[in-house]
Amino acid sequence: MTPVHIIVCIKPVPDPRRWSKLKLDPETMLLERSDLEPVINPLDRNALEQALVLKKAQKATITALTMAPPSAEEQLKEALATGCDQAFLLTDRAFAGADTLATARCLAAAIRKIGIFDLIFCGGYSLDGSTAQLGPQIAALLELPDLTHTLELELHKKTIKARCRRDRGQVRLECDLPALVTFDQQINQPRVPGMVGIKRAMTISITCWDRKALELEADQVGLKGSPTRMLSIFSPDRTKKGEFLKGPASQIAAELVQKLQQKHLLEPEGGRS
Ligand SMILES: Cc1cc2nc3c(=O)[nH]c(=O)nc-3n(C[C@H](O)[C@H](O)[C@H](O)COP(=O)(O)OP(=O)(O)OC[C@H]3O[C@@H](n4cnc5c(N)ncnc54)[C@H](O)[C@@H]3O)c2cc1C
Repeated sequence: MTPVHIIVCIKPVPDPRRWSKLKLDPETMLLERSDLEPVINPLDRNALEQALVLKKAQKATITALTMAPPSAEEQLKEALATGCDQAFLLTDRAFAGADTLATARCLAAAIRKIGIFDLIFCGGYSLDGSTAQLGPQIAALLELPDLTHTLELELHKKTIKARCRRDRGQVRLECDLPALVTFDQQINQPRVPGMVGIKRAMTISITCWDRKALELEADQVGLKGSPTRMLSIFSPDRTKKGEFLKGPASQIAAELVQKLQQKHLLEPEGGRS
């Protein structure tokens, strides 16, 4: 039986434990990431874990893929340490300023170049950009079916069956391979790499591709290839303060009603006159 080939897309994001240090650059209107240590986007760990579960259940090879600055070798090494077989880093100054479409274009071009695959796994969304667009955009560019926000996944020879979260509940979906799947955090508990995996990762070299290697034109990547225009940015207003009402429940309820009526958020008893 030919092993299933799963490509897992991994995004390095600023470590959420240090988010209090995040700043927005008012000139470029971008996040200042340089001072913050990147980690694998938490939901991409879930995607990676699901690939490793399939690898254990049946023969599979796993490829980790990212478009990021050269420092992302660290996150790819970590993916290799958990059990990935190979890793690709798309890195080029020309990729800077990419919006979701330009990012998806690079990832789709790399996946075409990698060649034969059965499944592409992504996190449901990233913790920093958080648009949840990347998965569906890669699927559209590669003309693949996509199953998003997956909570449960079964692989049956050349089809997959999934239970996926939707705004008003859940749906069961089924499609033929190749396909793209994005995962929610509830699907599994990601593993932590062990010493054997870390040693193995040190023996695997990461393949780096730039714009030319992906055969993309300069106006298809980075800021030039990004139709999104950011018009303004702002930090959320943190000046509002909460107020605690104290006393017995009936007194708190009466006080709350009075305050809401004063702010015209609740009509006075008896309705409008
Ligand atoms: C005008 C503009 C300029 C920007 N400039 C920059 C910039 O200079 N530097 C910068 O870092 N960001 C920049 N961004 C943000 C960048 O567009 C997003 O980081 C990127 O497109 C991913 O979008 P997202 O975070 O919403 O991913 P989502 O769609 O929320 O992510 C879903 C999943 O897609 C996969 N994925 C997402 N991104 C990658 C990736 N890079 N590699 C592999 N897999 C991935 C992961 O599996 C992830 O869980 C810019 C955005 C805009 C609009």
